[in-house]
This record gives sequence, C-alpha cells and structure tokens, in this order.
Amino acid sequence: MTTHRPDLSLPLAAPEGGAAGPAVELPKNVTAQTVLSVHHWTDRLFSFTVSRDPTFRFDSGQFVMIGLLVDGKPLLRAYSVASAHYEEHMEFLSIKVPDGPLTSRLKNIQVGDTLLVGRKATGTLLLSHMLPGRNLYFLSTGTGLAPFMSLIRDPDVYDNYEKLVLVHGCRQVDELAYRDFITEELPKNDFLGEQVAAKLIYYPTVTREDFVNRGRVTELIETGKLFTDIGLPEFDPELDRVMICGSEDMLAELVEMLKARGWLEGHNHKPGQYVIEKAFAEK
Ligand SMILES: Cc1cc2nc3c(=O)[nH]c(=O)nc-3n(C[C@H](O)[C@H](O)[C@H](O)COP(=O)(O)OP(=O)(O)OC[C@H]3O[C@@H](n4cnc5c(N)ncnc54)[C@H](O)[C@@H]3O)c2cc1C
Repeated sequence: MTTHRPDLSLPLAAPEGGAAGPAVELPKNVTAQTVLSVHHWTDRLFSFTVSRDPTFRFDSGQFVMIGLLVDGKPLLRAYSVASAHYEEHMEFLSIKVPDGPLTSRLKNIQVGDTLLVGRKATGTLLLSHMLPGRNLYFLSTGTGLAPFMSLIRDPDVYDNYEKLVLVHGCRQVDELAYRDFITEELPKNDFLGEQVAAKLIYYPTVTREDFVNRGRVTELIETGKLFTDIGLPEFDPELDRVMICGSEDMLAELVEMLKARGWLEGHNHKPGQYVIEKAFAEK
C-alpha cells in the first residue's frame, strides 16, 4: 500500500545557503534542524531527535516552539524538551492528534527531514523556582513526562535532593514511554548511573489495563498508596517539593489538593514548594 507523505525535506533558505529549489525564508525566531531519529511508541505517541543549533540554550524542564512549514508558513506548537541540556541533539515526545494541525503532519517525519525549532526556551518547571528540600516529586500524565525526561538527566537535580520520585500515569501500559530507558539504561549510564540508582524512584501507573501499579495519580496520592508503595513518608510542604505536568484536569485536581494542604506555588521571583506546567492546552 502506498501512503501519501508530504515532502518535509524543505527547500529552506538555509543560513549556509546551498539548498536547491525555491528557497523559503524562515522567520528570525526559528532555526531549521534535521531529524536524526524517530521512534513510534504507539499509534498515538512518538518521539524523535533533531540536531541542535549550537547557540540554543535551555534549562532542564523548559519548553520551546517547534513545527513545520505548511504552505510556506511556520506552523509551531509548544513542546517540552525531553533531552538533557548538555546533549548535542534535542529530543521531543509527541502525541498524534487525529486531524491536529501540526501532529497529523509531524507524525510522518523521517530521518533527514527538517524541523523548525524556536530560538528561545521558556517555562516554569525549573529547579530555580523551587525552594531547597528533601525529596523532589515529578508528577506527570501522558506527554507530561517529557520535561521530566530532561530533569532526570540533570546532575544538579540529584545534587539538590535526597530522592527523586518520577510518577507517570497513562491509560495503557504501552503508553509508558521511556520505561526501559528509565529502568534499564539510565542506572547504567557512565555519567549519571550511580546517582540514578541511589536516588531515582520511578512509579509508572496505568488506569485501563492490568499492571503492577494501577490508578490515577491524584487517587494514588490522596489514598496514600503511592507513598506506601515507594516506601517514603507522605509528602510534606515543609520538606518536599513537587513539579507537575499533565492535562488541565489533572493539574486542577492536584493544585486544589496541594493548596488545601498548605503548599505554596513557586515563581521565578519567589521560589516555592511546587510548580506546574500544562502538558497541552484544551481548545
Ligand atoms: C507548555 C506546553 C508544552 C507542551 N509540550 C508538549 C509535548 O512535549 N509533547 C506534545 O505532544 N505536546 C505538547 N504540548 C501540546 C502541543 O503544543 C500541541 O498542542 C500538540 O502537539 C498538538 O498539536 P496539533 O496542532 O496537532 O493539535 P492542537 O490543535 O494543538 O491540539 C488539538 C487538541 O489535541 C489535544 N492535545 C494536544 N496536545 C496533546 C497532548 N500532548 N496530549 C494529549 N492531548 C493533546 C487537546 O485536546 C487539544 O485541544 C504542549 C503544550 C503546552 C502549552
């Protein structure tokens, strides 16, 4: 079967010049990067790596605008950077929204294609927005895992906290992206492995299939099951810190719960006990 695939190897007006065909002028706020690898986790979820502009800087946990040229115009969406700040490439974890303006095209990218990447990263899931503390919790659902994939590869995170608890909630087991990487590869990493093995607790949970951990992230916290399962005391605003990335519903529920328990949100001018970021915007 032949499927129609749009041409994503764009004839851009590349800074170095030399691109064949009618050149397309890129806006100044993006750079053209090359797709280096693509991995499809499920029919709704994929990840990919691209080259990194040598001048591009970001902090672990931040997001950037990425996208494609569609009809000669950039179509950009916010994406959390999943790779570490010290890596030469950039990595992203993406949903495939049926009929989504960007992802219905982006899901077709292949090695060698061009991806537009914004020049400026931003976001709130930053170590600098958090007060010092004992244990740091990363609470995520779906593609909300992405910023935490960057943070769990940052040595500063390990230096600042006793334990890191990465909770990832999905509907199905095959949506638990990076599970093998987190459990098998990261603890053996030359650079970080020792700290990962000693400090990182990974808690994947699913809602719609049989699995070792089951249930919604909010319920697991409310009932205390999360803490019993990982062998840590219930989190405490005086001692622990929380970063959250997920759907608007998940954020609203967790924030309400934290506020009711006296937790204070952190900002760039005033570090706090928790920070949140939307994994996507509902329209
Ligand atoms: C701060 C921020 C960070 C983001 N980081 C990521 C990321 O790392 N990976 C990623 O895939 N998306 C991320 N998004 C969402 C992303 O910007 C796009 O919305 C998404 O790529 C779909 O684009 P689209 O043009 O195909 O559809 P859109 O028109 O943008 O979205 C259509 C609908 O699809 C649903 N949707 C969009 N994104 C998601 C998602 N990630 N998970 C579940 N449902 C979704 C929503 O209901 C939305 O209304 C982020 C959004 C924000 C605000």
